[in-house]
Amino acid sequence: MPSFKAVLIEKDAGGAQSAGFATLSDDDLMEGDVTVRIERSTVNYKDGLAITGRAPVVRRFPMIPGVDGVGIVEQSASPSFKPGDRVLLNGWGVGELHLGAWAERARWKGDWLITLPSGFSPDEGMAIGTAGYTAMMCVMALERHGIGPSGGPVLVTGAAGGVGSVAVALLAGLGYHVVASTGRPEEGNYLKGLGAAEVIARAELEGSGKPLARERWIGAVDVVGGQTLANILSMIRYDGAVAACGLAGGMELPATVAPFILRGVTLYGIDSVYVPKPVRVAVWDRLDRDLDRAKLAAMMQRIAFDEVIDAARGIVDGKVRGRLVVVIG
Ligand code: NDP
Repeated sequence: MPSFKAVLIEKDAGGAQSAGFATLSDDDLMEGDVTVRIERSTVNYKDGLAITGRAPVVRRFPMIPGVDGVGIVEQSASPSFKPGDRVLLNGWGVGELHLGAWAERARWKGDWLITLPSGFSPDEGMAIGTAGYTAMMCVMALERHGIGPSGGPVLVTGAAGGVGSVAVALLAGLGYHVVASTGRPEEGNYLKGLGAAEVIARAELEGSGKPLARERWIGAVDVVGGQTLANILSMIRYDGAVAACGLAGGMELPATVAPFILRGVTLYGIDSVYVPKPVRVAVWDRLDRDLDRAKLAAMMQRIAFDEVIDAARGIVDGKVRGRLVVVIG
């Protein structure tokens, strides 16, 4: 039985959580019909919450974190995959309830996997990862609402982070006038390089606001939540919409109904974890078609497997720019 290296989060009898590297064997893996040799993973905000224990993301101990992975199928009892196939996994509770991708090997359910689109290398697949695929879902929600590039400016918050960077690149590539909000003014040139037409300070959207403020944007992709999301809602133009996917600034929503009932504003909730497979495939197809590979390269940084725990601590402190790719095998 081959042994392999993995990150393991454990909890002691007193409830204290710790994370480190461990050597495991296939017997330690959970049930599943596909065994995968992991090539690449990434660091999502949720992985940072899992490693630091800042939110109760991990609901089974010990846990291998890592909500995204790309790898090669080694064994399969699933009719959909055979040894040698290159597969992609995003979400499905992996890294939370089921052992995740920060390991050289994983055993997952074939129903959770999709084939990595041929247009993407393993590095690119993980540079997108859950963050990028969520950004595409947000963009598609605004499109379904009927917001097009000529409708007016569109706001992206947390723009220098993972979801934000991909959302800026996608929206700009589709022709939208993108306003990028960031708490890191030093990343202004980076954001303009991704296609932002304007860069504003995160502070403009913080602090207690009015139920209705000056109408500024026809749409928004928000990763921050909290007071920022409440303020954004108060600034959306008549019949506009917000796609909300994150809580980097807080879980609460101290808003009023005024934007909904007086301006017809719509708030879309975006979840990436349990999206049915046909929707995932459609979202990845859109990414393949619409995401500029040069911009993806500009937002991606590769790190070694040994660096992943420190990187996870950094992401929840807002220190990571764009997307990290973890080189595993
Ligand atoms: P990142 O850490 O890469 O980006 C988050 C960004 O938010 C930071 O880079 C920073 O951007 C901004 N930010 C951080 N802290 C604060 C704060 N206190 N107040 C305001 N802004 C802040 O994370 P991701 O992009 O991967 O994820 C963003 C959010 O989306 C997270 O909450 C994550 O859990 C959520 N998410 C949800 C998914 C879903 O399925 N619904 C899927 C993926 C992510 P800047 O420096 O530019 O201001």
